[in-house]
Amino acid sequence: MKLGNLVQDQWVDGDGDGTLLTSAVSGKPLASITSSGLDFAAMLDHARRVGGSNLRRYTFHERGEMLKALAKFLMEHKAEFYQLSSETGATRNDSWIDIDGGISTLFVFSSKGRREMPNDRVYLDGQPESLSKNGTFVGQHIFTPKLGAAIHINAFNFPCWGMLEKLAPTLLAGVPAIVKPASSTAYLTELMVRRILDSGLLPEGALQLICGSVGDLFDHLDCQDTIAFTGSKATAEFLQQHPRVVGESVAFTAETDSLNASILGPDAVPGTPEFDLYVKEVTREMISKAGQKCTAIRRIIAPAATAGDLVEALAAALGKIRIGNPAIKDVDMGALASQGQRDEVRARVKDLAREADIVFGGDREFELVDADVAKGAFFMPTLLHCEKPLSASAVHSVEAFGPVSTVIPYENPEEAIELSRRGEGSLVGSIVTNDDSIARELILGTAAYHGRMLVINRHCASESTGHGSPLPHLVHGGPGRAGGGEEMGGIRGVLHYMQRTAIQGSPQTLSVIGNRWIKGAQQTESDVHPFRKTFEQLALGDTLVTAAREVTLDDIQHFADFTGDNFYAHTDEEAAAKNPFFDGRVAHGYLIVSFAAGLFVDPDFGPVLANYGVDDLRFAKPVNYGDTLGVRLTCKQKTLRAGTGYGEVRWDTEVTNQDDEVVAQYDVLTMVATDEHWASVS
Ligand code: NAP
Repeated sequence: MKLGNLVQDQWVDGDGDGTLLTSAVSGKPLASITSSGLDFAAMLDHARRVGGSNLRRYTFHERGEMLKALAKFLMEHKAEFYQLSSETGATRNDSWIDIDGGISTLFVFSSKGRREMPNDRVYLDGQPESLSKNGTFVGQHIFTPKLGAAIHINAFNFPCWGMLEKLAPTLLAGVPAIVKPASSTAYLTELMVRRILDSGLLPEGALQLICGSVGDLFDHLDCQDTIAFTGSKATAEFLQQHPRVVGESVAFTAETDSLNASILGPDAVPGTPEFDLYVKEVTREMISKAGQKCTAIRRIIAPAATAGDLVEALAAALGKIRIGNPAIKDVDMGALASQGQRDEVRARVKDLAREADIVFGGDREFELVDADVAKGAFFMPTLLHCEKPLSASAVHSVEAFGPVSTVIPYENPEEAIELSRRGEGSLVGSIVTNDDSIARELILGTAAYHGRMLVINRHCASESTGHGSPLPHLVHGGPGRAGGGEEMGGIRGVLHYMQRTAIQGSPQTLSVIGNRWIKGAQQTESDVHPFRKTFEQLALGDTLVTAAREVTLDDIQHFADFTGDNFYAHTDEEAAAKNPFFDGRVAHGYLIVSFAAGLFVDPDFGPVLANYGVDDLRFAKPVNYGDTLGVRLTCKQKTLRAGTGYGEVRWDTEVTNQDDEVVAQYDVLTMVATDEHWASVS
């Protein structure tokens, strides 16, 4: 069977016989792969013209809903993904990371997109910038989707997660993707893409797939395209230097090799929970995905005094690992992705063994559960011990992309920091210690060399997601050897596929462009109280200017008695006057906010359903008794919660005194009924 290429929404076979792909476990032929003869320029054109235009019609919330529906659909087809996944050498646990982990990335981006992005097609970056004395000229940064295609080039180790972790932020951004999985495990990616297409949930042109070489695709890239690459540093460097990538300044993010380190704290001696946690974590990282994880622990940096005990404990733990056919339930570790990959790991272990002793594994014979060593790509977990790591180089630079790790002793925290930095840039580092001051010292000493770091101790271990798990909420990527790129990290990951533009103009113009009212833009007062308007009836700039109310000394005393907030600035004239900010007793901040609500609220049953909080509350000036307060409430931003019967409305709220000076400023957050909901209840 030839793997299909998804080209302009059609499944297309490449020319010729292609390259044969075999099972990592049994060596049996699975499929052949070729993308020969594809029209790569037409694929790019289709993505830009059809996919991009289709996706950009939707708001972030609608695209978020699309991701959620897709995640649910893929969940229903999990069984067939799992079945095929075992041919890649993956155990059930490994497949869970790849398949469920990948699908959960869709769920997370869906939910973040709907909670943290507007129900709109433009994303505002920060607050408006004041650029003029009279406020008639302001600035606002915005993000809009790039008008090109996102080229995703993925590594072989996570055929599902590798695709989905890139696809989720890309589609949420409103950008179409052309996915090129690594050849050796492309059969699993292809199956998932077939199901994605079957779902009918993505608009035309949103997703295309290349199984095999990318041909002349790079020759047709332009400045609106983005490349997200995962693989080796050598390939990343080669592709980054493509004349078109350089000439068109094509955005390129790379996730590459990494000599990730995990540091055992000096406090974590044998007998402590942290020592045991460390042994467990390192063992798990070595065998999970048979060590074929870009985030796996390659360097085990441990106190010299503890290193001997640690080697013993790790060897004992690794000795219990059952290796073999990953489809068998009791098997802890399956095969590497291909025999070629196994030979590559064997060669890299030889490089490491020039500087370190093999203390477990290596080329020793081992027993396999239900598998034939001659047919599958099996490799024994291998532990090395480097006694002189400061004068070594291979242990800090050679990545054996398999179940291989080296114990590296250190004498003091400064040395641990120095050794960790020798990795010259990593995706992730971890520290296992119950001494928080050591954790701080090690993090401050090494964070600049890492994209992500975690500290494990007895308090968080049971819920920790572990050293090797990138999470959609947190950035994945790292400096230097790790490629210098960044993916995911919540909405940050979406913005990699969008262009940031600084927009300058009048507050009114910028309010319309960004769909968020800006101070200085039009404010419209009407006879109808804004709380009597439905979500649809409200317009940005609708404003209520309230009547005024005096704050008396009795009010302040009453509020203090009633709430129990007897802070001296509100209750003791003499003490208050000694405070550098006040001349005497002043009103409580919360009294000002409460009086403001009393002034702007319309009490009758109406479309405003609830007040769910305030944002950015600041008290700008003290309010003395005898002052008179008034409120200017302006409809600032509307976010429809589709299908719920309401939308969120943010109100710019300014509380002023008798001299029209702002004494308090904040956003009031409310939920307001839609026309339909209001009609059904009123
Ligand atoms: P690789 O050879 O660099 O391949 C990575 C991807 O690049 C594959 O899809 C490969 O396709 C493609 N590729 C290779 N040459 C290309 C070219 N000239 N033009 C376009 N695409 C090209 O890496 P690998 O050896 O398969 O993967 C293992 C490496 O990836 C390890 O070093 C590991 O650390 C790294 N990795 C990093 C991460 C991370 O998130 N940072 C994750 C996993 C793996 P073909 O398969 O068709 O050649």
